[in-house]
Amino acid sequence: MATSPSTPLAFIDLLAQRRRLGDRIDKAVMGAVDAGQWIMGPQVREFEKRLAEFGQAELALSCANGTDALVLPLMAWNVGPGDAVFCPSFTFAATAEVVPWVGATPVFVDVLADTYNMDPADLEAAIQKVKAEGRLTPKVIIAVDLFGQPADYPAISAIAKTHGLKLIADSAQGFGCTLNGQHPIHWADCTTTSFFPAKPLGCYGDGGAVLSNDAGLVELMDSLRVHGKATPRDIEGRAFTHDPKYLNMRVGMNSRLDTIQAAILIEKLDVFAWEIEQRNAIANRYAEQLAGVARTPTVIAGGVSSWAQYTIEVEDRDGLAQKLKAVGVPTAAYYPIPLHQQPAYSEHPLAPSGLPVTVAKASRVISLPMHPDLTPEDQAYITQSVHNAIGQNA
Ligand SMILES: *Cc1c(COP(=O)(O)O)cnc(C)c1O
Repeated sequence: MATSPSTPLAFIDLLAQRRRLGDRIDKAVMGAVDAGQWIMGPQVREFEKRLAEFGQAELALSCANGTDALVLPLMAWNVGPGDAVFCPSFTFAATAEVVPWVGATPVFVDVLADTYNMDPADLEAAIQKVKAEGRLTPKVIIAVDLFGQPADYPAISAIAKTHGLKLIADSAQGFGCTLNGQHPIHWADCTTTSFFPAKPLGCYGDGGAVLSNDAGLVELMDSLRVHGKATPRDIEGRAFTHDPKYLNMRVGMNSRLDTIQAAILIEKLDVFAWEIEQRNAIANRYAEQLAGVARTPTVIAGGVSSWAQYTIEVEDRDGLAQKLKAVGVPTAAYYPIPLHQQPAYSEHPLAPSGLPVTVAKASRVISLPMHPDLTPEDQAYITQSVHNAIGQNA
């Protein structure tokens, strides 16, 4: 019988990581504060270099958050009115939100019942439907590494190639995940991520990044993140005597990563591979301890998840959430309302399937505490509580 924890359980215990890394992060933060280069200080470039290396990309460009990271490539590719962007409905709102920002139309695609990631067959059907209708032009696919595991990139990138579409890997939850040893950038035109504190690689505020092997794309996004400032290519051969920072070549935005956050992320990236290993060990223990009582996650063959969430399926999700709450186990439902059923997104087109898997999953999924500092004792208490709540092995 598992004993109850001495302190309240956290869904994601960021303070435990804070205790583990406290000293080195304090030093890094105070170093950045004392150096006085609070915007675009040297830590920003240093972090971008290390992030690209970690994600097996040639280049990485940081920005203010994971949502901006998604809109930057859309802006750079001039995606706009009349363009269709295909994305899942079973995801966080930011994935689709950036599409109407640029005037384009999101087209929602169903997910696979085992991995919760984009269904390649449903994607193909959605593209065919949009082409047949002739009202929108297919331009971009945004695949999501939901809950941390890689989407089916070999299948999705083959579809993107066939139809001449760009592919974005929204890896806000999955940064660090691999498929057959490759990071998503192996298949995608760019990978985006978020450093929101609760993401697998989080900072102490907001932050994001785009990784790419396309130097031209990164140069354009570098311009867009600072108000469309001139790029080296823009001013090549021009007699321009002022600071090119004040030559605005395109309508951009202000989306920089703070120097302080970059300094924190350098320290966190250093232990990130170890943290992913811890998360995988915890996921394996959950799978063992919950076998037969709930549907535990399936990871795509050849995939390694970074386990942003550990999501199980049960018949009575809300009942389980209540019973667990009563014994001090926090849970969350990701996502209770699919995007295509949200007031803000209900007008947009769907794949011809009508997204039955997405709709069925939304009422069944429940995520359990998951973070690299979850102890075996606390985890045993959590799984025992699930067994008790569902009424087996009580
Ligand atoms: C968190 C998240 C984002 C957005 O990141 P922010 O940094 O919060 O803007 C985008 N996509 C997915 C799938 C996410 O989970």
